[in-house]
Amino acid sequence: MKRYSAFAIAREALRYHTGWERAWGNPEPKKRYDVVIVGAGGHGLATAFYLGKNFGITNVAVIEKGWLGGGNTGRNTTIIRSNYLQDPSAAIYEKSRSLYETMSQDVNMNVMFSPRGVIMLAQTHHEVRGYERTAHANALQGVDTTFIGPEKVKELVPIINIDGPRYPVLGGLWQPRGGTARHDAVAWGYARACAGMGMDIIQNCAVQGVETEGGQVKAVNTTKGRIECGKLALVVAGHSSDLAEMAGFRLPIESVALQALVSEPIKPCMDVVVMANTVHGYMSQSDKGEMVIGGGTDGFNNYTQRGSFHHIEETVRALVETFPMISRLKMLRQWGGIVDMTGDRSPIISKTPVGNIFVNCGWGTGGFKAIPGSGWAMAELVAKGEPGPLAAEFGVDRFREGRFIDESVAAGVAH
Ligand SMILES: Cc1cc2nc3c(=O)[nH]c(=O)nc-3n(C[C@H](O)[C@H](O)[C@H](O)COP(=O)(O)OP(=O)(O)OC[C@H]3O[C@@H](n4cnc5c(N)ncnc54)[C@H](O)[C@@H]3O)c2cc1C
Repeated sequence: MKRYSAFAIAREALRYHTGWERAWGNPEPKKRYDVVIVGAGGHGLATAFYLGKNFGITNVAVIEKGWLGGGNTGRNTTIIRSNYLQDPSAAIYEKSRSLYETMSQDVNMNVMFSPRGVIMLAQTHHEVRGYERTAHANALQGVDTTFIGPEKVKELVPIINIDGPRYPVLGGLWQPRGGTARHDAVAWGYARACAGMGMDIIQNCAVQGVETEGGQVKAVNTTKGRIECGKLALVVAGHSSDLAEMAGFRLPIESVALQALVSEPIKPCMDVVVMANTVHGYMSQSDKGEMVIGGGTDGFNNYTQRGSFHHIEETVRALVETFPMISRLKMLRQWGGIVDMTGDRSPIISKTPVGNIFVNCGWGTGGFKAIPGSGWAMAELVAKGEPGPLAAEFGVDRFREGRFIDESVAAGVAH
């Protein structure tokens, strides 16, 4: 596969862009693969990428029922941060954030990583104490965050109202190297790099059944026929319970709709990401100028990629209180995705009761930021059959053994 470079752009400009190759192919499935990964979202594609890059395993198929990146990976609000409280979380999210720094070079595609800084607002005294504690924990974990006062918040975000009528801004947890990236490009970059290593990305192919023999995985049955596999990785976010049921086990996952919306584009007015957990809303400005706004999760389990209507009103109300100038903006689009929630709001990267079936799910409302770190850890689990240090604490058995990794505060706002 030819490398993307400034030279390639110049060369193609001279020949009217007739020489670009397809970024990935449209192969028919082979009879057998060493590893089949179900789900061509960011986590599935990153798993494939690191299987090839770190372990030299390339007889791999990534099977996707729709189009790649068409699940939550292409529906999120792209926030990247690693300011979690517990040590296992800080380790995997910080690994992930640091991999985002070099992702464009690693996959040879511009993923537009923008480390513009992320603030989580403290609007009650309880939140002040909580975020001060997180900043101390992050210092011990080697994650660069600080607790800042309201004046500094105002300096970083001139459009914010720090004297809000209900909840004045009392400070914030500031992570200067957090930020955003272009979500589609993350999926496309990994897909292209995987195709370049000889892997098959098979779109429009739904897995409908999992065959096992003697407690080991044997094959998957798909809308494009039966595919044998040595190992099977289930990386399907909100559909994890369905796939687990096909394989004959249960997961502690609930699937709910989470939604987001964007405004009409306006001139640059905010160059950091702001999250307001108490009033529940968060916002950043895209490179196109749209204000990207995150809403809440539905209060009931469902599979509609839409989200309940009343959340739009609640979210916009919260943000108008925080940023009064947006009251004059028109909203352009609203959409939803199905997220996979665990009880402790931490992910599952784990072996399963069936031999050679591995599962990666439970990233809930905040897994975009985790894509490269998760792929790194999942590839190690699949390649070696045992979790490495990044995944060791995220086994599914923790729910039976009561070893929860409680991140309900870090995930307090749905992002
Ligand atoms: C509105 C919204 C905002 C969000 N904002 C943020 C944010 O700001 N920051 C952040 O870090 N995270 C955010 N998230 C969460 C983040 O998007 C997800 O955690 C992450 O994208 C999950 O990626 P994934 O690869 O696991 O899942 P997905 O991208 O959903 O990929 C799973 C794939 O599996 C496929 N699949 C399902 N069943 C089958 C089957 N039977 N056969 C074949 N394929 C199948 C699906 O079609 C899908 O493409 C947000 C999510 C939403 C919905």
